[in-house]
Amino acid sequence: MELDNLYQEVILDHYKHPLNKGLSDSYDVQVHHINPSCGDEITLNLSVEGSKIKSITWDGVGCSISQASVSIASDLLVDKDMDEADAITEQFIDLMHSKGTKEGDPEVLEDAVAMAGVSKFPARIKCALLGWMAYRDAADRIKQSGSARDHRGSGQ
Ligand code: ZN
Repeated sequence: MELDNLYQEVILDHYKHPLNKGLSDSYDVQVHHINPSCGDEITLNLSVEGSKIKSITWDGVGCSISQASVSIASDLLVDKDMDEADAITEQFIDLMHSKGTKEGDPEVLEDAVAMAGVSKFPARIKCALLGWMAYRDAADRIKQSGSARDHRGSGQ
């Protein structure tokens, strides 16, 4: 699999120096997502304040694409309104399904545009999407609960 060199560097940098890795003690929702085809695993903690994302922390194992992608997502989505985070997530999913025909909007996706080339490799798309799907699942659970407090974890 060959990606643009600059993009390769962005991905490797996130993989080697992941952002927001290490699960927070407190959270509103915790989700665990796996990608069996590659062996990637991610646990993600989401905390919100009203409709704003207060923190996203995660821990995981797996390939560089999966770990870099969740690092990028956690950095990009934190401090955003959940509606805005959903729109960004939709754009990323759309990019991953573009089969290499889209470059992604760096104004919206920032470092996540480095994943654009992954969309040419069907076997790796799930790796790139894993962290984003985990975020979306966590956000959906918070919205469904109506109150984040119902799902506040003990952190133990
Ligand atoms: Zn993977």
